[in-house]
Amino acid sequence: MESWQQQLSQSAVKIEDLPFIPESPEYRERLKRVAELYPIRINSYFLSLIKGPNDPLWKQVVPTVEELDDYIDGDTLVADPLNEEGDMPVPELVHRYPDRVLLMINNQCPIVCRFCTRKRKIGFPGIVTRETLRQGIEYIRNNPEIRDVIMSGGDPLLVPDKELDRILGELRSIPHLEIIRIGTRVPGTLPSRVTENLCAILKKYHPLYFNMHFNHPAEITPEVEKACAMLADVGIPLGSQTVLLKGVNDNAKVMKELMLKLLKNRVKPYYIYQADMTEGTDHFRTSVEKGLDILRDLMGHTSGMAVPYFVIDAPGGGGKVRLLPNSVVEHNKDEVVITNYEGKVFRYTQPNGKNGNGNSKAKHQDMCQLPA
Ligand SMILES: *Cc1c(COP(=O)(O)O)cnc(C)c1O
Repeated sequence: MESWQQQLSQSAVKIEDLPFIPESPEYRERLKRVAELYPIRINSYFLSLIKGPNDPLWKQVVPTVEELDDYIDGDTLVADPLNEEGDMPVPELVHRYPDRVLLMINNQCPIVCRFCTRKRKIGFPGIVTRETLRQGIEYIRNNPEIRDVIMSGGDPLLVPDKELDRILGELRSIPHLEIIRIGTRVPGTLPSRVTENLCAILKKYHPLYFNMHFNHPAEITPEVEKACAMLADVGIPLGSQTVLLKGVNDNAKVMKELMLKLLKNRVKPYYIYQADMTEGTDHFRTSVEKGLDILRDLMGHTSGMAVPYFVIDAPGGGGKVRLLPNSVVEHNKDEVVITNYEGKVFRYTQPNGKNGNGNSKAKHQDMCQLPA
């Protein structure tokens, strides 16, 4: 098998390298403009999985001129929709929540996702440097309330083994830092990067968690399954995040297949994100109801293990907010009336409710089932 470095060096990076794009010279001319604004990268492994135009993998990585349309219409869509830059006490470290930070380790990725929330940064030179990294680690060392760091980017796993070992070692030398998380799309898009040597390095820095990124069941190939198994076998709890994307995974059948396939590979689905309001990505956005409908189709119909949190990362920097389909019909101090996944209605009497007397037998009788 080819090495990950080879697969990266054989990436599609120019318009001429792109699979299944229109022949028209005018179209290609406009795509050139897209590529100037937002770099292209599809490594040769991921390229080999693309079966045709508009397939769910093609859509995630092949640029289209729609990225330009949104750029002109920059009214509601912005380059930094979560205002990450506003929450950076030092460059390339986001400190938004009380006890955890996001630290950008580099700004290169194994593929450049067209819907990326950090489109403004990814693939450009000179953004994350040795100096920003040094300041980031220093900041964590000087702020004892930080007990959790998410190494992100870019993709932390594109950093060479020796350098990654050094960064992890420095972070682990900080006594108040309890857990380290790695946010990565590498296992799912460049699985050859998950080598024995990498696993041996990662294993030294427990408790270490992975937040991976998967959007479609076709991403879970035999190579990816092997990479996940190697990581799980060195004791890394594996989680996954998914972005709800129009034309890629905005239907319950695809989402369910993805979630169940992840579980089979010892990966726990963690988040489904409503797409951020990022400039150049409007054509990927779905309505919020779509996400709630998908959740409704998962909850109760399959294992709770397979149901991630559905979140909107609040525009302007409010952080992640979880949304749930409504299951409470009525709620007062005496009782809570709820519906289950089949739409049936149930009554739960509160301990201090008018029928509640602490007798569990009586309580059960009070929970009468009403017709849907
Ligand atoms: C998502 C995120 C985190 C981690 O959030 P959890 O909900 O704890 O996984 C931390 N910092 C930033 C800036 C984030 O966007």
